[in-house]
Amino acid sequence: MARVSVYVPTPYRKHTSGEATVSAEGATVGEVLADLCTRQPGLEDELFDGEGQLVGYLNVYVGETEIRNLSGLETELSGGEELALIPAMAGGSQGMRLLTASQVERYSRQIILPELGMPGQRKLLAAKVLVVGAGGLGAPAIMYLAAAGVGTIGIVDGDVVDRSNLHRQPVHQEQDVGQAKAESAKRFVTSLNPDVTVVTHPVVLDRTNALELISAYDLVVNGSDNFPTRYLVNDACVLLKKPLVDASILRFEGQATVFLPGQGCYRCLFPTPPEPGTVPSCAEAGVIGALAGQMGSIQALEAIKVLLGVGETLANRLLVVDALLGHSRTFRWQRRADCALCGDHPTQTDLIDYVAFCGSVMPRRGVDAPGAEELSPDQAQARLGSPGVWWVDVRPKAAYAAGTIPGAVSVPIDELSSRLEELRQADQVVFFCEIGQKSQVAALIAADSGIAASNLKGGLLAWQDARLAWQEKA
Ligand SMILES: [Zn+2]
Repeated sequence: MARVSVYVPTPYRKHTSGEATVSAEGATVGEVLADLCTRQPGLEDELFDGEGQLVGYLNVYVGETEIRNLSGLETELSGGEELALIPAMAGGSQGMRLLTASQVERYSRQIILPELGMPGQRKLLAAKVLVVGAGGLGAPAIMYLAAAGVGTIGIVDGDVVDRSNLHRQPVHQEQDVGQAKAESAKRFVTSLNPDVTVVTHPVVLDRTNALELISAYDLVVNGSDNFPTRYLVNDACVLLKKPLVDASILRFEGQATVFLPGQGCYRCLFPTPPEPGTVPSCAEAGVIGALAGQMGSIQALEAIKVLLGVGETLANRLLVVDALLGHSRTFRWQRRADCALCGDHPTQTDLIDYVAFCGSVMPRRGVDAPGAEELSPDQAQARLGSPGVWWVDVRPKAAYAAGTIPGAVSVPIDELSSRLEELRQADQVVFFCEIGQKSQVAALIAADSGIAASNLKGGLLAWQDARLAWQEKA
């Protein structure tokens, strides 16, 4: 067994803790390299292809002679020799990993783009992108960033997958319901592209963790669904000088823009948040999944453009998509000299209390979200007349006027989002409609905004059937 020293060039030193020379043992070059790969995990993928052959762009020297001129991997060693690993190197790519044959195949359709090429692909593989929220926008953004080979994707989301997410967040699937969104998204990426390292942060982003978390990444994609988080992410990116790709969606409308360090921020575009309750959430007002896919995909595209430095990004332009009318427009916006955060004389130099600033709560999150309870007519009847329990008829006004459950109030479902504040005064709200389907939606919306909501299962029809049974008993 011979002991030899092996010279490791810079592209591979990340596997040797930065060491330029390491020692390894073996009777032949092949055995020494095998020993080396055992000692330095991660090196094997660099040196060998899928069939166990040395990759074509790597030469191995014993002393000053390349092993192809000796006996290849079978070259015998007596001990004390110096082995050297010498990969092909193009100007400027030093320290960057070369593409493997399977990577060239995987990314071939984008590598042939002159704006991307091999150097662009290597940039993407070396890039670290944080996606805030694995929801309507984050899901498609994650899918396309991962498919394109962005090497490290961080996913921060403290929520769990709900069945009502699946129509617009195809990174999650039926079997993921109830699981952490960050982990569910990671499973998708892992099966899509083994080149991507996913770092999951299954937490709610707030002022205590945002700076540390974001500082580890090159760029942030904001897919958050509420104003406190939107301002928080913006402020943290300005303070850390990170590019931010922003988008938002509601009903059939989408917006997207890019904030580059020094060129303005979300506060330049919208200095103050809207009054609480004036802009409904997707849970309250609805959203169409394909539009979420479009806007999240635009975010992935803008992120890739920023990382590569190609094309004209949406920096200082707000893209507005009206999906119902089928048109999109861009509006210019500028950095404001009087911006509190990124202006000439900033007054804000740290993160603030975003819940207080926006006057709204971050939506309730995670496994402790109670959802809406489904009540049978018997269960519902037991609560009839209890103080604090409101019965809400979500059918149209005319149907309500023609007859309803005694004591019920009328809140037609299209008025629900504007009347949630009013319903918040109740200890509990029992929603009902004709057959219990519209009211189930209403109950879920109300529960999402923190109201103790339940649904009368089977609606008025079931209620009337049950009432006949109660009368017979009596
Ligand atoms: Zn600003």
